[in-house]
Amino acid sequence: MASDEFDIIRRHFSRPELAFAVPGVPLAIGDDCALLQPSPGFELAVSMDMLVEGVHFLADCDPFQLGQRTLLVNLSDLAAMGARPLCFTLAVSLPRSDEHWLARFSAGLAKVAAAHQCPLVGGDLTASAPAVAGRAGPLCLCVQVHGEVPVGAALRRSGARVGDAICVTGTLGDAAAGLRVLRDGTWPELTGPLREALVQAFHTPQSRVLAGMALRGLASAAIDLSDGLASDLEHILKASGVGAWVDVDELPLSEALCAAAAPEQRPALALGGGDDYELCFTVPLQQLQAVQTVLAALGTPVRRIGEIVAGSGLQWRRSGTTMALKVRGYNHFGNAGEPT
Ligand code: ADP
Ligand code: MG
Repeated sequence: MASDEFDIIRRHFSRPELAFAVPGVPLAIGDDCALLQPSPGFELAVSMDMLVEGVHFLADCDPFQLGQRTLLVNLSDLAAMGARPLCFTLAVSLPRSDEHWLARFSAGLAKVAAAHQCPLVGGDLTASAPAVAGRAGPLCLCVQVHGEVPVGAALRRSGARVGDAICVTGTLGDAAAGLRVLRDGTWPELTGPLREALVQAFHTPQSRVLAGMALRGLASAAIDLSDGLASDLEHILKASGVGAWVDVDELPLSEALCAAAAPEQRPALALGGGDDYELCFTVPLQQLQAVQTVLAALGTPVRRIGEIVAGSGLQWRRSGTTMALKVRGYNHFGNAGEPT
């Protein structure tokens, strides 16, 4: 059944599992603005991420998984700042009004919204069919997340200091490998749970929200890994005015990635693949033990992979010696998104 704009908003985006009430949001969907009231002594942390069909997800992907991923990748930015999710807004440019698709997409959003107590509080909806060309534009999903963090406690990119350890959560490269499995049919011999682990890493990234909050006051800088460690760690180095080395042998790799990719393929996936949405953070050595304790309590794996040094730039090491490694992260307009 075809629906108009307001039917779609009412049926799919105002559904109570998705647009539920939370403290801190006195007014949500239905008026010209939502009203937000952060807790006293907290700052609002705001971030926006756009997902475009054909660029960030495959045109035929499952709408439930897409709904989950759309919110998860945005929550990951809150995690990287140590912020607690409060709510989100959503703008959709929709090629067609498909009830089944909308129901599944909004159910995927609702599952993640409930898990993080982060309801949908407003948005916009437009048809992406241009009147003249006659061909619908791509599906485009734009989320803005709002979180809160105690004044002065946000984890910024600029706080890394010489001597700090560099750590990452989880494992690296799985999502990039999962995308290759889905899009290119790479590693056809990989089946069962190992294949599934890679595919799920792409569809439903972790978004380390609780880990990010636990790192407040301990980590000196943090970023979430959306474009690949090689490029994302550079952002910390530039913002902090420091250099670093990373030991390639210390990169946390999953059993699934090792089963799929040959040893020489692994660095490109783990360092340049993107879409991991794990946290990379720096920590003064005297806080390292405390970090390990709080993350262990959350069940979040963490690995120390390198160190901040004076100077600039990122140096790769293997067995204690410097090695040449050419890896690039994803960069819109900068490269085709393929690690070299
Ligand atoms: P306006 O014309 O004042 O911008 P709209 O008619 O676009 O408002 O939207 C009506 C209400 O529905 C607003 O509260 C808006 O935030 C909400 N809304 C619109 N699109 C979405 C969406 N995709 N998801 C959630 N809420 C939405
Ligand atoms: Mg209005």
